[in-house]
Amino acid sequence: MTTPFIDLKTQYIENKSSIDAAIQKVLTHGQYIMGPEIEELEAKLAAYVGVSHALTCSSGTDALVLPMMTKGLTRSDAIFTTPFTFFASAEAITLAGGTPVFVDIDPDTYNIDPKSLAEKIEKISNEGILTPRGILAVDLFGITANYDEIQKIANTYNLFVIEDSAQSFGANYRGKKACSFGDVGTTSFYPAKPLGCYGDGGAIFTNDSSMHQEMISLRVHGQAHSGNKYDNTRVGLNARMDTIQAAVLLEKIKFYESELQARNAIADLYSARLQEYVKTPIVPNEQTSVWAQYSIQVPDRKKVCNTLQENNIPFAIFYPTPIHLSTAYAELKYKPNDFPVSESVAGKILSLPMHPYLKEEQIETVCDTIINCLAN
Ligand SMILES: *Cc1c(COP(=O)(O)O)cnc(C)c1O
Repeated sequence: MTTPFIDLKTQYIENKSSIDAAIQKVLTHGQYIMGPEIEELEAKLAAYVGVSHALTCSSGTDALVLPMMTKGLTRSDAIFTTPFTFFASAEAITLAGGTPVFVDIDPDTYNIDPKSLAEKIEKISNEGILTPRGILAVDLFGITANYDEIQKIANTYNLFVIEDSAQSFGANYRGKKACSFGDVGTTSFYPAKPLGCYGDGGAIFTNDSSMHQEMISLRVHGQAHSGNKYDNTRVGLNARMDTIQAAVLLEKIKFYESELQARNAIADLYSARLQEYVKTPIVPNEQTSVWAQYSIQVPDRKKVCNTLQENNIPFAIFYPTPIHLSTAYAELKYKPNDFPVSESVAGKILSLPMHPYLKEEQIETVCDTIINCLAN
């Protein structure tokens, strides 16, 4: 096999002159921290998503921590989230002072199941140990969660909503863009995400001006808005995005839409070949995917993985361990079978090579290998 799992090198080579020039410009003007590219990128991102404010930051993880820091959480505050996600979704809740409370996922979208969410909020309210405060919904693999239902539940119980769209920047849900849902949406520009920079980076999106102002301060050690650098009004972070990363993103966002088209064409080819053999991804009506991952479910995953490996086809497993069973959260005392859907999917999920530079014959090879393996 000749394709990497994600091909960042080809993308760079194809766009080398414009990306090199953008980086060179930063090196020459010298404003390596909070240079003009930061504000330019924030304006572009806000317009793209269709919200009033975009704030760049150091990573997708800090993009989750910063808005939750404005909520003054304590360990008795429950933030509801999914266990079938990257560790950072739950970790950010803990870092911001709250307690993650897990809710099982929908078996088709792999995103938080609204019905289980409402039931869990009821249960936690009735127990009276933790106080429901917020919902951190994750937009997994390229599609958003079900925000119409999630927002209804949030309104009923008076909870804030954070949209972790680290994997779904650019996706559509019922006529609106990912990162525009809830009180605040976040994303990551980690290189392997659909829109990545050349290091760590993230962004936060909101229509809430006072929260935006507070996060501007928290991003730089809780600095005062008076402009006095040494009057710190709250304890914050050092969570700025580097100017060079903003310059890279300003170039890469120019061809992002055409890359999304290529990703969708590739996903269609995969699904057309594979859907009668394995459970292929489902994109609900009135939604589009940015295909952060193309993930299938196979019952005998070990056998398929061995065959892929023998044929030099790269693959990945996102995620083998649901977070409620991770060592770090042992103290929360979850047990196997607490979230049967998440646990079942974790045992069968398999992500195939996905990037805009995949060729049709490479996709054919991946599909043939899987189909042959399943037939034996
Ligand atoms: C990647 C990711 C994050 C964290 O982003 P970083 O930029 O790596 O800190 C958070 N949530 C999800 C769902 C992710 O996939």
